[in-house]
Amino acid sequence: MDFLFVFLLGLAIGSFINCAVYRVYTEQSMRGTSFCPHCRHSLFAKDLVPLLSWVFLFGRCRYCKEKISVQYPLVELAVGLVFLSSYLFIVPALSLATLFYLFFVLSLLSFVFVYDLKYYIIPDFAVFSLIGIALLYRFFHFFTEGDVNNLLYPVFSALGAFVFFFLIFYLSKGKGMGFGDVKYVIFMGLFLGFPEIIVGLFLSFSLGAIIGLILLTLKKKGMKSEIPFGPFLITGTILSYFFGDFLVDWYFSFII
Ligand SMILES: [Zn+2]
Repeated sequence: MDFLFVFLLGLAIGSFINCAVYRVYTEQSMRGTSFCPHCRHSLFAKDLVPLLSWVFLFGRCRYCKEKISVQYPLVELAVGLVFLSSYLFIVPALSLATLFYLFFVLSLLSFVFVYDLKYYIIPDFAVFSLIGIALLYRFFHFFTEGDVNNLLYPVFSALGAFVFFFLIFYLSKGKGMGFGDVKYVIFMGLFLGFPEIIVGLFLSFSLGAIIGLILLTLKKKGMKSEIPFGPFLITGTILSYFFGDFLVDWYFSFII
């Protein structure tokens, strides 16, 4: 039952993220009822059931029949699956506090992923919340467990990643990546620590290069048009969080 609950929680958070992306971009308050952005008709519970409403309405608004973007069910399903797989994968090893922390981080990361992909910017409130919560979590662990390395390694990972990205940003005059990415890697270092930060960045750049080449071949994006880097950084972060140890061990098994 708990698996189903976690999946449904992910679906609901995915639905909330869709709404948040729209409202943050249009600078509306998060309060007030949902409405169709096309006909402004208020939406009710039956219109807002994650996945199912979109499917049973055949991807159209119940009131004006305008198409509803496939982004809505896709984001809901993706966040549901991310929650479910992290729960299945890590729950035996985690305390309840860490589980809440992880789900909070995953929710914010999903929001940034969609927002950056759509609008090519990482909102400051999101990246600063991520940095804040990761720092709090590291301090919390330091004070409860007392191992200073669990604080120092992440802090130095964050500083190192920040300096590295700032240099790329500075030398490429902002063409290589946005300043949002430079701020994001501070979180990435705090969240992943060392050596997972290296694995995470390596995966992000590799993914970016592969997807960039595929898009270029398909001529979806010209050489000059930008591909947001945030979604690659986020994918690298999540993969490294779950598989970082494993990848490091695997890599060193070749060397030693
Ligand atoms: Zn409508």
